[in-house]
Amino acid sequence: MWKCLGRTLWLNYTVGRRMMSHSSLAGKIAIVTASSDGIGLAAARALGQRGAHVVVSSRRKENVDRAVSLLKGEKIQVIGTTCNVGKQEDRESLVNMTVEQCGGVDILVSNAAVSPFFGNIMDSTEEVWDKTLDVNLKSAFLLTKLVVPHMEKKGGGSIVFVSSVAGYQPMQGLGPYNVSKTALLGLTCALAPELGHSNIRVNCVAPGIIKTRLSAALRENEAIMEAFNRQLSLKRVGEPDEVGRVIAFLCSDEASYITGETITVSAGLNSRL
Ligand code: NAP
Repeated sequence: MWKCLGRTLWLNYTVGRRMMSHSSLAGKIAIVTASSDGIGLAAARALGQRGAHVVVSSRRKENVDRAVSLLKGEKIQVIGTTCNVGKQEDRESLVNMTVEQCGGVDILVSNAAVSPFFGNIMDSTEEVWDKTLDVNLKSAFLLTKLVVPHMEKKGGGSIVFVSSVAGYQPMQGLGPYNVSKTALLGLTCALAPELGHSNIRVNCVAPGIIKTRLSAALRENEAIMEAFNRQLSLKRVGEPDEVGRVIAFLCSDEASYITGETITVSAGLNSRL
């Protein structure tokens, strides 16, 4: 009997270890932008729960400090710094700090976005376009440029951009934001073949309506939510952790043969055929 119990325990241990090693991110170093709240914070949590050392950041120090102490309380290895992704000096200091304090970069989750305009797209100004594209699109590319040499030094890496279902099907009133999110789908496809040579996978997630501060105005509008509800196969809005877990999956070895792909996390809203 003891022999049998011993064998069962050994089997459980071996199978458990094998399963863990596939989804495990132990020893990996992950930068997540705009991660003091919402989907970014959830992604940092999901990566940290799988063993990654995460670097959280956003514009405001008090938000970063709050997120770091929250995640530390959940036994996640985490450090934080301020970074407005629209500023080159902030992007550089985020990557430099990560390399100096953690020893490299394996994962980049580019999550920050703004939507500074609501109305007819023809009324949007150059200023609005500059801000939207700087934060939502250019920063994703420019951060990629900064982390790739460090990923190459380690023999590979994983990059995930956070787009939106609005990138597939424009949401009314959010013209420049929609276009910036469509461009991220294109950026994913453009980068994947080039970076594949360096064993760096580039993927994207397109969330639907997720319970965060960003979507609060939308969720409070009954008429809009009624229209959305008709299109949601699961009749509810999503939780940030439901997106965070998909991001962690894309960063893990379980997704080792996935690159140039976008996964919609939207309960069926604006899904592709
Ligand atoms: P959120 O809850 O409003 O969180 C915003 C986070 O971004 C905060 O941590 C904020 O912290 C930080 N932030 C804002 N501007 C920044 C900047 N310029 N540089 C760095 N950090 C910045 O937003 P969310 O809903 O999680 O959105 C995250 C991503 O998901 C965005 O790309 C968004 O487009 C996408 N998305 C969201 C939904 C949804 O329904 N929520 C749907 C589709 C796509 P500070 O104020 O301290 O900077």
